[in-house]
Amino acid sequence: MDTLDTLADLSGQMELEHAEESRSSTSGQTGPAKPACFTPKEKRAAFVHPAQLPNGKQVKLLKTLLSSACERDCYYCPFRAGRDFRRATFKPQEFAELFMKLNQADMAQGIFLSSGIAAGGANTQNKILDTAEILRNKLGFRGYMHLKIMPGAEKGQVERLMQLADRVSINLEAPNTERLKKLAPHKGFIDELFRPLKWVEEIRQSQPAYRGWNGRWPSTVTQFVAGGSDESDLELLTTTDWLMKNVRLKRAYFSAFRPISDTPLENKAAVDPLREHRLYQASFLLRDYGFDLEEMPFLQNGNLPLPTDPKLAWAQRNLKEKPLEINKAERRELLRIPGIGPKNADAILAARRAGKLRDLTALRRLGIVIARVAPFVLLDGRRADQQLVMF
Ligand code: SF4
Repeated sequence: MDTLDTLADLSGQMELEHAEESRSSTSGQTGPAKPACFTPKEKRAAFVHPAQLPNGKQVKLLKTLLSSACERDCYYCPFRAGRDFRRATFKPQEFAELFMKLNQADMAQGIFLSSGIAAGGANTQNKILDTAEILRNKLGFRGYMHLKIMPGAEKGQVERLMQLADRVSINLEAPNTERLKKLAPHKGFIDELFRPLKWVEEIRQSQPAYRGWNGRWPSTVTQFVAGGSDESDLELLTTTDWLMKNVRLKRAYFSAFRPISDTPLENKAAVDPLREHRLYQASFLLRDYGFDLEEMPFLQNGNLPLPTDPKLAWAQRNLKEKPLEINKAERRELLRIPGIGPKNADAILAARRAGKLRDLTALRRLGIVIARVAPFVLLDGRRADQQLVMF
């Protein structure tokens, strides 16, 4: 197996890991390692993920592991110790040189690097740090790096990682200690996962003037296995909301549980991917739209209704009978109307400075989808949904 086969092997098993706004180019299949012989096209497809970076730039992101060997036994994970599949490991120098070749050939412009754990989290963290140091300081890589914090890493290692990366992350996987016991009983929720996220914010706050290699500290994200521990959406969003408010978590990723063969959860039913979508919608309402957790339309079991967009459900309950006057609503109120996002709200405020918005045509000129907005607004005192018949 050549180094590209090894890389394709390691990267091809990373589709459960969400990173940036990426669309996986793999088949979506999980399970045993893929065959050793890849065609050149398959090799490329296995590790190149078109992704949108936090600054909006599109890049070819190499999403991979330094090693698929792991001594831990997380119940949901394809890399867990004892699972029967071919493992592969790169040395830091070997991996860094391979990445630079791909980078120079314009096959990969950014990197998302994780690893299975061998000889402890701190030892594995050193391998990721060594790789990043070689890339930044010996080989001169100036592109995007998202680096994983390993469970069991030390605070000094997290700080060094932050000095090298554009984004750092550690996956909580479950929303609290009790739920994590069902997914990964030998992982410490507070000590190994939650505390490093707090360290990141402590380090940022202790050195506010730090400008890093690219002028700022890296952003932080985490990921949950949605439905893996029978947790509710309320539990997942409670933890997400706390992290966004207290340690400036940039975003949470949700990966709907899918059973993997030869793991203790192989017979557990897969979770509907629509649940991921609803969790994302709700987390964006909490982060960007001024909603409180208590306003989410949770069902009695603590889950969001799958058939309905949570913002639409809130509006049907609160705005249907009391539509908002578009010409008077404040920005925070505009953001509560289905079909109006931050850019639309700003466009409405700017248009209002030039004069009253009297009908749906005025909203349509601002790029707003009027069929979504109309049931919940008044335009110059008149219900907008009654104007829809004219369109
Ligand atoms: S520590 Fe990470 S790689 Fe290892 S089994 Fe757990 S989730 Fe998988």
